[in-house]
Amino acid sequence: MAKTILVTGGAGFIGSHLSKRLLEEGNNVIVVDNFFTGQKKNIVPLMDNNRFEVIRHDLCNPLFLEVDQIYNLACPASPVHYQYNPIKTIKMGTVAMVNMLGLAKRTGARILQASTSEVYGDPDVHPQTESYWGNVNPIGKRSCYDEGKRVAESLMFAYHWKCDVDIRIARIFNTYGPNMAKNDGRVISNFILQSLAGEDITIFGDGSQTRSFCYVSDMVDGLIRLMNKDGLTGPVNLGNPREFSILECAKQIIKMTGSKSKIIYKELPEDDPKQRKPDITLAKKELGWNPEITFEEGLKKAIDYFKSLESEEA
Ligand code: NAD
Ligand code: UDP
Repeated sequence: MAKTILVTGGAGFIGSHLSKRLLEEGNNVIVVDNFFTGQKKNIVPLMDNNRFEVIRHDLCNPLFLEVDQIYNLACPASPVHYQYNPIKTIKMGTVAMVNMLGLAKRTGARILQASTSEVYGDPDVHPQTESYWGNVNPIGKRSCYDEGKRVAESLMFAYHWKCDVDIRIARIFNTYGPNMAKNDGRVISNFILQSLAGEDITIFGDGSQTRSFCYVSDMVDGLIRLMNKDGLTGPVNLGNPREFSILECAKQIIKMTGSKSKIIYKELPEDDPKQRKPDITLAKKELGWNPEITFEEGLKKAIDYFKSLESEEA
């Protein structure tokens, strides 16, 4: 049966892929976005579908809609963007989260919150399991995002226990792919754009810090599986467990783009996590989910996307 599904942040990177998939599955999709980091071009291809609607709205203000499911993805996700206005970022985890939970409570909609591996902070447990409580600096430059996402998880459970709201929490690990904005500032898009332009590749720190990168179609699949799984609130880690140092990642991108770019080293930002890798045992067991796209395959698609932007602009 077709559902009416709200995707907040649906003009953004992950939200636009998710909205496309939900439409393909026959649902009605309402995207709500204030276009802070979202891009109109990400949703233009969906506009012809008469089951698609978009509303420009800032989720720090209440929203009244009738929906069956809510995917709450709205929140700047790149360190550059979430640190631009830290107060606003905290409001996404608090004020906007309460608005979305109020909507879920009134309509009886199931709500999935896009949480993050950043709830583990700079982790001293490796790989990270859902039972690990994390190591977050509450007053550091990243705290507006990390603590915002942590309080959002608390709010999700408070509404679940007190008001019986049907909740799902996905802890998303670094995800990449087409539809990332050119000014996104996260590592994969930065390195690809720098490689394609023949500019220096900027490694922050010595490049020994690690991340595990998930291609966006795998992430969307995991989010949909979690939303539609009965009796599982989460949190559930979603991410690709293959771990790379940032230096390895730069070298791989230079190789695949055939770039002549040089690697340069810049100062490591405050509280930058030294290592990150998801333990996805729970997602495998409960959702039958396992990422399928290899880093090489995913990078090729992301590189092709950024190349296609160059030819559009030419
Ligand atoms: P993104 O920045 O591309 O998308 C976020 C979207 O939210 C944008 O379209 C933006 O305009 C919208 N938005 C921001 N503030 C808003 C507001 N006040 N009202 C309405 N819309 C607003 O980021 P993304 O990578 O697509 O991330 C989506 C979600 O997944 C975020 O909640 C993020 O925290 C989470 N997440 C992403 C990653 C990742 O690696 N991409 C990792 C962990 C968690
Ligand atoms: N990074 C880097 N160069 C860049 C952008 C990021 O070396 O141009 C590093 C960053 O310091 C971090 C890692 O790459 O160690 C991942 O950064 P990103 O902003 O993509 O995500 P997050 O730190 O939130 O995992």
